[in-house]
Amino acid sequence: MKGSFVIGKIKGIEIEINLSWLVIFGLITFMMATNFFPQNYPELSSIMGWILGSIIAVLMLLSILLHELSHSIVSIKQGIDVKKITLFIFGGIAQMDKEPDNPIQELKIALAGPAMSLLLFVIFTLIFNLLTYLRVESYIIAPLIYVSSVNLIIVLFNMVPAFPLDGGRVLRALIWHFQGSLLKATRITSSLGKIFGYLLVFLGLYVVFMGNALNGIWFVFIGWFIKQLSESSYQNTVMTDLFTKIKVSTFMSKNVISVGSHISIEALVENYFYKFKYTSFPVIDSDKVIGMVTVENIKTLNREEWNRTIIRNLITPISDDLIVHPQNNVSVAIKKIFQNGIGRVLVMDGEAIIGIVSRTDILNYIRIHSQLEE
Ligand SMILES: [Zn+2]
Repeated sequence: MKGSFVIGKIKGIEIEINLSWLVIFGLITFMMATNFFPQNYPELSSIMGWILGSIIAVLMLLSILLHELSHSIVSIKQGIDVKKITLFIFGGIAQMDKEPDNPIQELKIALAGPAMSLLLFVIFTLIFNLLTYLRVESYIIAPLIYVSSVNLIIVLFNMVPAFPLDGGRVLRALIWHFQGSLLKATRITSSLGKIFGYLLVFLGLYVVFMGNALNGIWFVFIGWFIKQLSESSYQNTVMTDLFTKIKVSTFMSKNVISVGSHISIEALVENYFYKFKYTSFPVIDSDKVIGMVTVENIKTLNREEWNRTIIRNLITPISDDLIVHPQNNVSVAIKKIFQNGIGRVLVMDGEAIIGIVSRTDILNYIRIHSQLEE
């Protein structure tokens, strides 16, 4: 996510905080220090209010992080890798490598987060009760009861059956399991997601008109965010479903233009890049593909060296994420295209290049499909 910084790594998962989260951190601390504590504990000094306020904000951050970690660890156990967790203004997102393969996987991953939040609710409540029993000053334990109820709210909110919230994922898994169709399950639950999003927007507007502008605007933003997310997740599922049904051999462009490895960069730029307007070409050396040459490769070279350098010395060598098999489905190609940084993959049948699939092909296909089929 743009505007984020990494704060560490847990179990190989990068933990990243988006700057937008700092706004919330400041806001929570501010509200606690100027509102909650002065009203409930007037005897408390204002510095203490700020300290306790920021402790609440940190505990809330930790609660959301643990919720996402719980999703992630179960996901990794199910064989779906998680590279990164981002904490941002609306909570947290665990970046999963792919969608679950079956409803049981989805169910386990979806329930893991709310289960953790429920556990945190119980733990914070128990500690609160224990400290109350030990007669610890009530303002010191106030953060605990506050954060415990926040965790309960996280459980209740996330379990609303609106995709892509956790509850929506649970419902999607159940429909998927009993009806057998992921697409149908996603269509139903993401419509619920859209409805829930709009409901929050209207609720927010109502709250604004009732005089509580800050809370109201908050609801409007979250509602709108959920509405957008449910739409894009649905489209994602449709596309993934579509591209797993198409074979690379029928999707690829067949006229591949490759270059010999002994040509100079000067000639390559003039006779290939400017002529064909592609941003990369496969490179052939005695009838074998040895790699790709890209605009990025050429940018690493000074202009004076263009006529002294041959392509062979500048290529990105051939590797597994540059190649797909004609019998692979297009989603395999898409994954590699977005991973390899070159924006295209070569379709190889044994030693021979028989086609190419590029990012532009994929995006154009999506554009055409969404205009004709919606
Ligand atoms: Zn969750």
